Amino acid sequence: MPTFQTVRGMRDLIGEEAQTFTRIFANARKTADLYGFKEVITPLVEPMELLSAKSGEEIRQRMFIFEDLGKRQVALRPEFTASIARLTTTALRNEPKPLRLFSVGTVYRYDEPQKGRYREFWQSNYEIIGSAKPEADAEIVLLTDSLMASLGLQGYAFKIGHVGVIRGILTQEGVDDKTQNAVFQRMDKKEYDAAMELLESRKTRQMLRGLIEIKGKDWQDTVEQIKTYVAGYEKAEEAAQNLSEILKLVTCGANLTVMVDPAFARGLEYYTGMIFEIYIPELEIALGGGGRYNRLIEVFGGEPTPAVGCAHGIDRVAIALQTQKTILDGKGGKKVAVIPISEALKSEALKIAQTLRSEGLTVEFEVMGRKMAKALEDADKRKIDYAVIVGERELKEGAVMLKDLSSRQQTTVSIKDLASKIKS
Ligand code: AMP
Repeated sequence: MPTFQTVRGMRDLIGEEAQTFTRIFANARKTADLYGFKEVITPLVEPMELLSAKSGEEIRQRMFIFEDLGKRQVALRPEFTASIARLTTTALRNEPKPLRLFSVGTVYRYDEPQKGRYREFWQSNYEIIGSAKPEADAEIVLLTDSLMASLGLQGYAFKIGHVGVIRGILTQEGVDDKTQNAVFQRMDKKEYDAAMELLESRKTRQMLRGLIEIKGKDWQDTVEQIKTYVAGYEKAEEAAQNLSEILKLVTCGANLTVMVDPAFARGLEYYTGMIFEIYIPELEIALGGGGRYNRLIEVFGGEPTPAVGCAHGIDRVAIALQTQKTILDGKGGKKVAVIPISEALKSEALKIAQTLRSEGLTVEFEVMGRKMAKALEDADKRKIDYAVIVGERELKEGAVMLKDLSSRQQTTVSIKDLASKIKS
């Protein structure tokens, strides 16, 4: 018999790893709730035209595309934003703005697999649609901070830039949009020399080189440097001012670590304003990112509608938690095995298991009909905290034996006190 494996770049999540993921989903949903985002669940498969209308060349080349049996060209979503834009111009067209929409699920990109880079991966995605104000940009950054903080991540920092700074310079220097997109793609990969080669004028190249040099830990100081540097490039000045307003709001809302980088570019072409990514010091890969995209909705036939959003890479957040040895709290903590001493007591034992479950405890009821010693040995191996041993003698007194599997101590406990005793 052949042994089957997952498709390259795709993984099974088993046991603790699966549990970490579901806990991250729960925190992402809670964060959505705290910021007033409504969840939407959209199809994994979308029309090919929808996805390619929006995504830039970069993503288009990495999509999983196929023809369905009705000869339709379809693709697995490479991100959520296209589906959200479709909803905005159809089912949610008449909803009052702003829309605050949240999704969580898998996305698919034909990336080269490596640590933290998969072909199927999970994202939590948040979009605010209908506001051009810096307040909306600030909300997106702040909710990312709230999510990371709620997970217990330590030492994370935001890298923030604004595509309007570079676009402002390039447009005023007469560089066409296509070349600008190509420049951004190179800069995203930090291939600065390759980016420069695309620019004909020496002055433009010098401007861009100078911009790459501007960096700093103090955001106010860095933004001032940018403003001075781009003086005379009207759109770039406006972008720097916008970035400054967003950062003022963000740093009022939370105590975050921000690094401003005016030469920062993100792969997706549709950004028009602020862009950001989030990192922890131990890892070089971004845990999430996003930005403003004011012209995207009209690509789908809607009214021009400003929007800002972000997506967090849940697989990478899980790696970050593991790297920092952070274990997410489960719902109740303690695990219990309920084991009857004899076959005749299994109904009584099941009743006790159900009572404990209704108290919120995780209970594994003995389903293998094993002898006590075997069942206890197995519970031990699987790191169960307590065994509830149901025996005839104790039952007559309305009690059971409770064995603490770490200290090996065993006491008789009345059934009515059992749940509180385990929880304490
Ligand atoms: P993007 O949709 O490109 O803005 O990416 C948002 C986040 O998704 C990134 O910051 C990563 O955390 C995550 N991400 C992007 N590509 C991958 C991938 N191939 N594998 C795992 N996570 C990814």
